[in-house]
Amino acid sequence: MTQSMPAPLDPLTADAAALDAADPLAPFRERFDLSDDVIYLDGNSLGPLPTGAAERIAVVVREEWGEGLIRSWNTAGWIEAPLRVGAKIARLVGAAPHEVVVADSTSVNLHKVIHAALAAQPGRKTILSEPGNFPTDLYLIESAIRTLGKGHQLVLVPREEIAARCDTDTALVLLTHVHYRTAELYDMAAVTAAAHAAGARICWDLSHSLGAMPIDLNAARADYAVGCGYKFLNGGPGAPAMVFVAERHHETLETPMGGWIGHARPFAFEDTYAPAPGIARLQCGTPPVLSLAALEVGVDLMLEADLTQVAAKSRALRERLMARVAATCGPYGAEVIGPPIGQPRGSHVSVAHPSAYAVMQALIARPRRRSTIGDFRVAPSAPARAGVAGSLVESEDAPLAGVMRFGITPLYLRFADVDRAVESIEEVLRTGVWQEPRFQVRRAVT
Ligand SMILES: *Cc1c(COP(=O)(O)O)cnc(C)c1O
Repeated sequence: MTQSMPAPLDPLTADAAALDAADPLAPFRERFDLSDDVIYLDGNSLGPLPTGAAERIAVVVREEWGEGLIRSWNTAGWIEAPLRVGAKIARLVGAAPHEVVVADSTSVNLHKVIHAALAAQPGRKTILSEPGNFPTDLYLIESAIRTLGKGHQLVLVPREEIAARCDTDTALVLLTHVHYRTAELYDMAAVTAAAHAAGARICWDLSHSLGAMPIDLNAARADYAVGCGYKFLNGGPGAPAMVFVAERHHETLETPMGGWIGHARPFAFEDTYAPAPGIARLQCGTPPVLSLAALEVGVDLMLEADLTQVAAKSRALRERLMARVAATCGPYGAEVIGPPIGQPRGSHVSVAHPSAYAVMQALIARPRRRSTIGDFRVAPSAPARAGVAGSLVESEDAPLAGVMRFGITPLYLRFADVDRAVESIEEVLRTGVWQEPRFQVRRAVT
């Protein structure tokens, strides 16, 4: 007997309640301590608290640290945590378990892989990236060039020209898989193949795609990758980051930070550095045990989800948001940027507005059950940071133009949340409430 299948719901037009009822990922919402008072659209910047993370940290603090004391390095799995959690993240990115380790921050891991790639190809002097890439990626290339002092150069070309620009002088191509502002998505396999065809290596910064979509580093034959623990992996503020190096590079892998935890025999206390085998050498110092414990809860939760379902729901949610924002907010000067509906893109939606910062503050400040939390990213043409050089300060004359960024995180967002958020955006824009002076003061973290 054949059963008649119900007609699939159209995520752009169907009723939100019906879409939520048919959502296979809906049960995951209960796995987060998330209040219904806010619509949280910033999980691409700081994932919310997974249920059980606070308990887990309490156990690590009270029992493992409080009672186990230093014995816990051996008895509670502390010293293996960077490789253990790395092996779990490997399953999310198409890597072998021994190709990923969790250590330090994404920025520090970028420093390591940039140096590793340049050391492996001393005859090549060019590092290729795109203008407008995430700043830390570009800054760390600059600092590697400065400190090495070997005549390397950073070349920035628009993304469409990257493949053609790879040549026999290109040592490393360093790109962000999903652009933090526009959500543009690279074809990882195609760009990797173009880099390899020129004999160059490639590093993918996965910060905005890790945990948001299926990734297959080894199918693409990527050389290096780094990625954030506190964004879509829900690992908590300041969670340590992942770093991937393809096994074929392990034997010759050089780190610019050969610390004792990445030594072949840390507790032999030898005078001379000898690298640990493989990816383990990209550890430097003592791992942050509390942060790793929180990250592991987030990673374990992500491993329960089917990333293909996550990507499909992300698409349905974000296209609904994009269509509704375009239809209702366009008249007030709001414009959805990045790849249009129907095109591949990352899991956040950016909406440009001349006062995007103030509009976002007004959205966040809306009363209970209406507060919509996203973030703001300054327009790329804006002048260098306002305020005292090198410090993060509040400033009333800092630029307000840019994008409102809305992260689409399918494990806990509902179609009804997207509809409520769009209603809020439309109302804030239509009423002009964002023009109140209190929404114009730019805070240190936007
Ligand atoms: C968020 C993000 C980072 C963050 O780096 P940290 O060292 O954690 O501050 C790096 N790269 C990209 C592309 C990001 O989106």
